[in-house]
Amino acid sequence: MKKTNKQSRARTPRVLKESKFSPLSIEIIKKLKKSGFQGYLVGGCIRDLLSGITPKDFDISTNATPEEVRKIFKSSRIIGKRFRLVHVFSRNELIEVSTFRANISRDENNSEVLKDSAGKILRDNVWGTLEEDCIRRDFSVNALYFDPLQNILYDFHNGLEHIQKKVLVSIGDPQLRFEEDPVRSLRAIRFSSKLNFKISNDVKEAIYKKGHLLGNISNARMFDEFCKIFLTKQALENFKKLNSFGVLKYLINTREYNEHTFDLKFQHAALINTDNRLKASKSVTPGFLIAALLWPKLMDASKEKGNLNLRKFFRSMDGTIREQQVLTAVPRKFHSYIKDIWSLQLKLETRLGHQPYKILNHPRFRAAYDFLLLREEAAKDKQGIGDWWTQFQKINRPGKIELLKRLKESRSGPVEKKFGFLEELS
Ligand code: ATP
Ligand code: MG
Repeated sequence: MKKTNKQSRARTPRVLKESKFSPLSIEIIKKLKKSGFQGYLVGGCIRDLLSGITPKDFDISTNATPEEVRKIFKSSRIIGKRFRLVHVFSRNELIEVSTFRANISRDENNSEVLKDSAGKILRDNVWGTLEEDCIRRDFSVNALYFDPLQNILYDFHNGLEHIQKKVLVSIGDPQLRFEEDPVRSLRAIRFSSKLNFKISNDVKEAIYKKGHLLGNISNARMFDEFCKIFLTKQALENFKKLNSFGVLKYLINTREYNEHTFDLKFQHAALINTDNRLKASKSVTPGFLIAALLWPKLMDASKEKGNLNLRKFFRSMDGTIREQQVLTAVPRKFHSYIKDIWSLQLKLETRLGHQPYKILNHPRFRAAYDFLLLREEAAKDKQGIGDWWTQFQKINRPGKIELLKRLKESRSGPVEKKFGFLEELS
């Protein structure tokens, strides 16, 4: 039986009463109400606060249509086609205001709800009530609505109880919900890592059964999701879970792991490195991570009889990125960054003549050096090249000359034959 508005009122936890919400979000809700509309804080911000996490942004839900919201707020813009909503902004903040959606099954013929033959929702713009809006949200913990002016929490799907029990529960049959929008399976994995929640059994089953539908999602949306999954401090955990659910292949173009222990070790090292950098508030770029995640694929395309074929190596770079583009739309600005890191791996190893001086000044030197250290970390046959560069950076000019002299003396035979850890090319 559907809960009425009154029944769905939950006892408001103290944390919400005492929370400091973003001033812009409060201002928006006040203005909406003044204009005769409803306005609630909803989704991730309420869920995170109740789980003891600082929210990264504040989303608002209202019964005002996007056009009505747009009229109320001077600094606002309507965005989206599949899912139209309004961005209301101040100088340093942006709030998403979305209009209540109706349960789409109510009106199958409405042109504002469009599904493809696999059941995927292509357009979802039928306005509804608060109760209806709850039903189309993905998980119970994401369907909590809070009125910060009256301190009232609305909970139609036991979201509060599920937060306490630390479990991710789908609203409605998860297999149908994942057909409507396959990205929900990635969201389930992402939230379980972020919140440290269990995934309920029926949701797990739905990921196994409907995961393949991720192949139908646009590469632009997949790239957005890629960034949320891998650039928000739980990259390693998400990677492992995605792999165990068999859906990693929809995000990363990689080779089978069972035969290549190096690949997994190296990718794990890069993911841990990303997580650690974020935890230390250092910058991260999807470019670096993508370069690392695709490295095994590039090695695969460049090898010849267990050695590196230089011509293949350079020729395969664009192709490797292009194959990844089919899955996730990696912005063009990262392409040359990724290729620079890859090409520099060769130069960092060969260190011919006076090249090391030039390499030190290369704008991507630091990234390429970090990349090399991660490769060494994952390799069985350490070659000490990372250490050599650590020393070469630190030491004074006479020291540098001496290091290069010793390197030259220690060499015999063609340099390119020695490239790489053999495991990478096996
Ligand atoms: P975070 O912002 O931390 O990633 P979030 O839950 O706020 O998490 P958003 O993508 O900002 O995620 O979406 C806001 C809310 O909109 C969600 O909490 C959920 O209620 C609803 N929502 C978002 N995407 C979907 C979806 N694909 N299917 C159903 N509901 C969704
Ligand atoms: Mg959000």
